[in-house]
Amino acid sequence: MKIKSADFLTAAISLGACPESDLPEFAVIGRSNVGKSSLINAFTSRKGLANVSRQPGRTQTINFFLINKAWHLVDLPGYGYAKVAKTKRERFGGMISRFLTGRKNLAAVMVLIDSNIPPQQIDLDFTQWLMGEGIPFVLVFTKVDRVSPTKANANIDAFTAAMAEFSDNVPMVFPTSSVSKLGIPDLHRLVSQVLASRNKEPTAVDDENDDED
Ligand code: GDP
Repeated sequence: MKIKSADFLTAAISLGACPESDLPEFAVIGRSNVGKSSLINAFTSRKGLANVSRQPGRTQTINFFLINKAWHLVDLPGYGYAKVAKTKRERFGGMISRFLTGRKNLAAVMVLIDSNIPPQQIDLDFTQWLMGEGIPFVLVFTKVDRVSPTKANANIDAFTAAMAEFSDNVPMVFPTSSVSKLGIPDLHRLVSQVLASRNKEPTAVDDENDDED
């Protein structure tokens, strides 16, 4: 997939405020500082795209980007803020879980995990919750350029091993770097494949995805 256009669409404060659309959506989520903005910028080859909607200290929002005029990349708020009051964290959690369980055109979720550190319980809890809800997702390990391949692989293996404790099927794994761009073409391919498979479904009503490769 070539990214021909990537435009910030809107920021929503709740599921109800999300734009009405039939376009397929890929959501991106992870702990704060995991490298989500960097990955969105690398994925779209647009420096600063993910930052256009950033409002430090303000309410967290669900940010929509229209890609190739054919699908939405959805930037979800980071979870697991250590210093955020419990109630506030729960509110973000509520908004995130309402979106993920209630958004009918959600195609898949990219769960970002920091490859530089051992498995974090909050990331494992989140993937377990996704599994339980039957929400399709892939694991995107970030910042692999920042540690040795041995260390990154050990952390990735430890994460999938921990997941195997509560699940029979471990999702697809994408080691990535927003600096070296490793793994970015693989994510493009993933999106292309998911979009293509959705277009083959008999329920697909319209066919305006002529942008795909
Ligand atoms: P966000 O809070 O999840 O949006 O994270 P950011 O994209 O702002 O990244 C957090 C920090 O990690 C920043 O200092 C980035 O420069 C750095 N970072 C993000 N991705 C990478 C990566 O792939 N490699 C390296 N070396 N640093 C990264």
